[in-house]
Amino acid sequence: MTSKINIHNEADVMVIAVNNPPINAGSTEVRQGLLDAIQVLQSDSKSSAAVIIGAGNTFIAGSDMKEFSQPLAEPHLPTVISAIENCPKPVVCALHGAALGGGFELSLACDARIALEGTLVGLPEVTLGIIPGAGGTQRLPRLIGVEKSIEYICAGTRIKADEALKLGIINKLVKEDLLGNAISLARSLIGQKNRIRDITTPSVDASDVLAATQKALKVGKNRPNVHKAIEMITNTLTLPIDQGLAIEREVFQNLRIGTEAKALRHQFFAERKLFKPLAGDAQKPKSIERVAVIGAGTMGSGIAIACLSAGYTVLMLDQNEAALAHGTKKVLDFYDSRVKSGKMAAENASAILMSFTSSAQWGDITSADLVIEAVFEDMEVKHAVFQKIEEYAHPEALLASNTSYLDIDAIAAKTRNPSRIFGLHFFSPAQVMKLIEIVRCKLTAPNAITVGLQFAKRLGKTPVISANSFGFIGNRIYTAYRRQCEFMLEEGAYPEQIDKALEDYGFAMGPFAVGDLSGLDIAWAMRKNQASTRNPEHRYVNIADTLCLAGRFGRKTGSGYYQYVDGMKSGAVDPFVKKVIDEASAAKGIIRREFSSEEIVNRILLAMINEIAHLASEKVVSDVTDCDVVLVNGYGFPRWRGGPVFIAQEMGREKLNFELRELAELSGPGFVIANTDALFHLQ
Ligand code: NAD
Repeated sequence: MTSKINIHNEADVMVIAVNNPPINAGSTEVRQGLLDAIQVLQSDSKSSAAVIIGAGNTFIAGSDMKEFSQPLAEPHLPTVISAIENCPKPVVCALHGAALGGGFELSLACDARIALEGTLVGLPEVTLGIIPGAGGTQRLPRLIGVEKSIEYICAGTRIKADEALKLGIINKLVKEDLLGNAISLARSLIGQKNRIRDITTPSVDASDVLAATQKALKVGKNRPNVHKAIEMITNTLTLPIDQGLAIEREVFQNLRIGTEAKALRHQFFAERKLFKPLAGDAQKPKSIERVAVIGAGTMGSGIAIACLSAGYTVLMLDQNEAALAHGTKKVLDFYDSRVKSGKMAAENASAILMSFTSSAQWGDITSADLVIEAVFEDMEVKHAVFQKIEEYAHPEALLASNTSYLDIDAIAAKTRNPSRIFGLHFFSPAQVMKLIEIVRCKLTAPNAITVGLQFAKRLGKTPVISANSFGFIGNRIYTAYRRQCEFMLEEGAYPEQIDKALEDYGFAMGPFAVGDLSGLDIAWAMRKNQASTRNPEHRYVNIADTLCLAGRFGRKTGSGYYQYVDGMKSGAVDPFVKKVIDEASAAKGIIRREFSSEEIVNRILLAMINEIAHLASEKVVSDVTDCDVVLVNGYGFPRWRGGPVFIAQEMGREKLNFELRELAELSGPGFVIANTDALFHLQ
């Protein structure tokens, strides 16, 4: 027996407890220990049945992902599962917390499953670029049918215990005394075996399977593993289980070592470390309960919704009565539509809204623990607003700015206590987007950043810490990437070609379609502001300026890089834009050339990688993989590609540096090749 498994006897029932904190991950030691325990059970004349249970807060909540990047050590999970199934004595699985992935597959090998209320079960493997590899695709359909299995396995759904009971995934749901109830259940099964492998998959209507498949492929159309999962699940209708299991294992092993699964694991680890600072023995951070949001515009109202949904008490303030009324309506409408669409119970929405106030009176912010400023992007306005905040907010309250580009150190410099000022950069729509950049200024107290992390965690967001630098992390990378897109326009590509190349690569939307959606006037205003300080020697593409001068600000004006006739959502290619671009090339004497999708994507990735290396050299980020988190969670970068840092690491330093030199030549004056050491952990 390994130290990760404890066994003891309760009269004739052996209790096998998995003890691998914090999540009882299924590691080699756990698998070996379980195998040993089943062997003991088989030969122990005093035990007639067994219960497998998790020690601590959960059952086996997943596999040890660190093991997935290497050849898996014996015994593999299917060996453990097969030992349970072939053991003549019944084994009951007692579930609490979460039984996910391999943990859930293990439970499907048992003769019955009993769960404590609130337990989650599921097979999230597809979200990691693989498929369940220990019988999940073969046993679940035998239990709940092909159609439901496609739905749950392809979405990686975490199924709630009451739903699992209805579906027959678990046999019994209890409110308390999980172990006692599991022992009784095991005792009632003595002398029986109820193996899922002996059930015939319920037959289904082919059209239902087709409908479930089409639904699953809507999200997973480009994911080879989703296609494979569907194939494996439907195999259960025709193939004997052992053949199905063997094919499933082979597919799992091949996907596990593939680039996509590796990329998804890279993202998983990059995101998992974000909350590590909260686990340290740092001074216990101040607890936030009341949030004041200043500004009831696009961002203010979205931030208010995000905070309300996380259970905070929120006050939203705007100096403009009409803006306040509009923002308040947005908040109320949000919850109203949640109720109408059946996503939220009416009483929950009412309870949330009881914690919401909107006001034009500064005196109302005094009880806030955290004040988030989301007013116009203008330094003078920000200074004035922070002065008001200081006048009225509690002296211990933390104060955050949601600015996109302004220098928060400069904002803090005009306040009395800069140590409580930092950035909380939400992305639009703030109630939806996962990313938050937490901006650490020169004088921000470390405790404020810890509170920011804790706040983001409660909001269910993905926070990344950035130093205070123009555009922080995301917008800085985005600017470099956009610049490269404009260079390619000038050299021979057209917006629709660049957008298509990136969408085919996996981006949710191409950059020009995004520009048209968010409005070209904002960036134009910023370029005009920067014109006097721009280095005239640097390459500057004026195509966007020409479009703006023609009144084309994107979708809202009916045209931008594309034309939007009669409120069309996706724009049509516009000959006027082609003319503007061709003329821009001609004016610089550039002979236009063909671009392949591959070249377009490669140039963009290199531009991003180069900017990330700059961010690392300038210490704007402390861990380069944070940049992959930013791009995936805030900028539509395809998660399954891992992010630019992952791509750079796969490419290798020598090839990357060579390609960056080529890119510098193509890009011309102004493009500075970064030192890429940090991407390869050489700094
Ligand atoms: P917005 O114009 O929609 O809203 C700003 C609100 O601030 C208005 O309702 C205005 O009445 C109010 N306001 C202005 N001066 C005020 C004052 N002195 N006191 C109280 N209220 C005042 O702007 P937005 O898009 O919500 O942007 C707000 C901030 O968030 C900006 O700093 C912007 O850069 C940043 N941001 C915007 C986005 C985005 O996509 N819109 C994304 C991230 C960050």
